[in-house]
Amino acid sequence: MPLRASLIRSIAHHRWTSVAAVALWVATAAMFVHPAARAELAAGARFGWPALAALLVALTIAGGAAAGAIPAAMRGRLIHIVTLLSAPAFLVVMGSGGVHSPALAIVGLLLMSVTATLGYRVGATAAVLSVAATALADLALGRAPEAVPILTAAALLTAIAVGPLWYARKIARDVEVDRQRMRRVQGFLHRRPTPRGSTAVASDLRRDAVSERDAAIGMVHLHIASRYLRDVRDSLCADEVIYWRLSEENERMEPAAWSTVSPDEPALFPEREGVPLVQWAGSQRMALAAQLEHGGIVVAAPVEEGDRLFGALSVTVTAGAALPDEELKNWVRRHGTHLGTLLGLLEVRHATARRAADVRAIIDAAERIQGSVMMDTLARSVCETSLQVTSASRSAFVAWDSAAGTGVVRSASASFGLKEGYPLGNDSLVARACRNDQLFVFEDAQRAALRTAVFSDTEPRRRIGSLAVIPLRRDHSVLGAIVIEGDSPRQVVDREVDTVRLLARVASLSLRTAEEFSRQHDLARKDALTGLANRRTFDERLSTLLAESDRFQRPVSLLLADLDHFKRVNDEHGHDAGDAVLRHAARVLGGALRADIDLCARYGGEEMAILLPQTDLTGAREVAERLRTLLSSQPVRLGAREIDVTASFGVATYPASTGSRDTLFPAADRALYEAKRGGRNCVKIAEVTGANTTL
Ligand code: GH3
Ligand code: MG
Ligand code: MG
Repeated sequence: MPLRASLIRSIAHHRWTSVAAVALWVATAAMFVHPAARAELAAGARFGWPALAALLVALTIAGGAAAGAIPAAMRGRLIHIVTLLSAPAFLVVMGSGGVHSPALAIVGLLLMSVTATLGYRVGATAAVLSVAATALADLALGRAPEAVPILTAAALLTAIAVGPLWYARKIARDVEVDRQRMRRVQGFLHRRPTPRGSTAVASDLRRDAVSERDAAIGMVHLHIASRYLRDVRDSLCADEVIYWRLSEENERMEPAAWSTVSPDEPALFPEREGVPLVQWAGSQRMALAAQLEHGGIVVAAPVEEGDRLFGALSVTVTAGAALPDEELKNWVRRHGTHLGTLLGLLEVRHATARRAADVRAIIDAAERIQGSVMMDTLARSVCETSLQVTSASRSAFVAWDSAAGTGVVRSASASFGLKEGYPLGNDSLVARACRNDQLFVFEDAQRAALRTAVFSDTEPRRRIGSLAVIPLRRDHSVLGAIVIEGDSPRQVVDREVDTVRLLARVASLSLRTAEEFSRQHDLARKDALTGLANRRTFDERLSTLLAESDRFQRPVSLLLADLDHFKRVNDEHGHDAGDAVLRHAARVLGGALRADIDLCARYGGEEMAILLPQTDLTGAREVAERLRTLLSSQPVRLGAREIDVTASFGVATYPASTGSRDTLFPAADRALYEAKRGGRNCVKIAEVTGANTTL
């Protein structure tokens, strides 16, 4: 069997393979020298079965290789195995009929490895040489040479050695073509210049349906553009027509679509003359032509629609052009404008389809948001929806008080690490956005190197790749803002921000309602002068706490406080001063209690009622004493005047002071009366009346 020099060289790398192969071929040659052995080979009686077995083994190995079942280490050695098997295979072929032998297929299968390792040309050459060697050996064995079997054998061997590999590579190439086309689609889609002058680059084909839909639309656009370019090519008898898209990043033209049905790059483009010509034609917005070095011409013209420049069109004609140069230039210019119009229309169509899907999402959200009259549910809905309509990692909703120039976080994704009610820092980005009614979008927050904190200097640290702050406004004043953040750059993009702005408009309508609702709610439950809970709230809370006390066997204490000689304050300093004293007392008493647990209410004119859940009589007395001392130690300053304020306290605990729920308040009231009688500015405990003293 013939071996090419390169094959021999590769064998030489493997010393033992080389030695074994040489030994095998020497033995084969020796058989041909020996007349008896030659006669045996010519008769071929013993070689039928070994040939069949070898064929089956070879087929199995080839099948395994095609299915990828052969380990990589083994694949690397295939060429050595082939070398070793070549001598026995040659003998089997000769013994089973030479060029007539069906065992020639074994050689073909072995040669597949040669093709895989050394390429098609070597594989085909080895196949032809193998047949030639077999024919010569046939001659040596006394078989008459026949042209038809020799040619058939050569065709068969070449087909087996080269065909399957060629087909497999073609399939792989087609897959790669699709992959590259997809990449171009993404580029075509996302690096389009946008009217706002920024670039909308989606970080990858995201998992969500939005980008899948975009990719499908982009694919259609690319097909339409390529089809148009093919029509241009045919109408101008040109060889290649390329649409160069203006890249916003570096203001250069990059090939985006071309007439040749080729995947990765346009064919027939004269780099040296062409590229500068295209750049120049685009930037100067004029049609230009250049003669090619080896004959032919390349013409470039801008692709534009009105003021908008999409890129440039280039037409290459290598043979003689069908039109005079000037006419060709005119046509290319005209086609450039047509293509611009086409791209503009496609873009509008794309934007419309996208918008329609976004609007559907917003309508769903609007229904949910409109249903939220409470501020906290509204805030939560807005946050959730902004995450649904964007690819942001987290979102927050901030309420802004434009009169006071302050804001607080109303709802935020857990990954922000912010609590509801978290106040905005004065110089924070969100405060700035609200104060100046300014939209902030940082597609690449890292590159923008944000210096200010988003919410406040004390906010938890996190990785911010992209960020947008969208103010909510109503009737020219800012009510709040939606904040969306992505972990990686370009996760939050301009296009998505547009959708959130729509959401912000829906939310701002509901926000007013929620604020009004919350105001009414407060009015109904709070005292207007002091901001303390009103009597109604107190009564409701008292009955709830008493019921809980019965159920969980826990005490609840009630403190009644009445300002001492308050009438005098009114008489001596005026009613306004009286009001100020009341507000002061409310602030001091309310501020000294456990937030969200105790309740301090204005029960009457200058009477406060304080509820202390899960507090026994001893604890309640201590609290009352503390409040009394606090109040008496802080006189009210009104201008130059200073007014001393004291209060008397009556304390009662359920069930320690009174066995009946209904008598808790009267018991505390009686104790208060005792305190007044006892000289005021003191604390009195209710006397026990039929109490259950176990608590
Ligand atoms: P005592 O130490 O016995 O409690 O004396 P007092 O002067 O506080 O007596 P009393 O409780 O009878 O007086 C309550 C006064 O509080 C009567 C009323 O003029 C005044 N008052 C009630 N509500 C308000 C209010 O909203 N603003 C002002 N400025 N005064 C009020
Ligand atoms: Mg009173
Ligand atoms: Mg009083």
